[in-house]
Amino acid sequence: MSSVSPHTLTAFIGLGSNLESPIAQLKSARLAINALDNVQELAFSSLYASTPMGSQDQPDYVNAVMSVAASLTPLELLYALQAIELEHGRVRGVQRWGARTLDLDVLLYGDQHIDMPELTVPHRGIAERAFVLVPLSDCDADLLIPGKGKLSDLLIKCSIVGLRKLNEDESSS
Ligand code: ATP
Ligand code: CA
Ligand code: CA
Repeated sequence: MSSVSPHTLTAFIGLGSNLESPIAQLKSARLAINALDNVQELAFSSLYASTPMGSQDQPDYVNAVMSVAASLTPLELLYALQAIELEHGRVRGVQRWGARTLDLDVLLYGDQHIDMPELTVPHRGIAERAFVLVPLSDCDADLLIPGKGKLSDLLIKCSIVGLRKLNEDESSS
């Protein structure tokens, strides 16, 4: 479990899966993230089913967002999440937005703007993706997205076609 240091910031992580028991993948990823040094869960959203971006010739996704107290660098968090993706059988194919067992994105890291070759924060696309904005709102409805404005305003403008909240029976399966 993490110790709370003066440098602790709240980070938001997007979780997605559409292969090999997506709900189980997300639950396992949640445990693995909590097991990281210097990372501690603050909130975990409901689970959502969403139609895929990119090729429609793949299963629907299950998505969620978790917020964590993080006292490591954003790049360290990204690398730790990529290691968890690999542990969950993630294979990086050539096709953008192709099917995957687990996708973990750093959505927000405090109020930081990061523009590095391997890490852009806020995550690109955050402002248009219902499968990100809706579960983000479960974690913190009052969130301000740096450079993008109020989460509640982004939600109003965003189409939720293709997004469905899983009920308790489905989420516990
Ligand atoms: P998208 O980023 O549009 O959601 P994706 O999740 O399918 O697409 P990936 O193949 O998982 O994309 O990642 C491609 C690259 O994105 C990674 O190698 C990583 O370095 C980079 N990247 C940049 N910013 C971020 C971020 N905020 N979170 C995760 N990866 C990021
Ligand atoms: Ca993604
Ligand atoms: Ca990703």
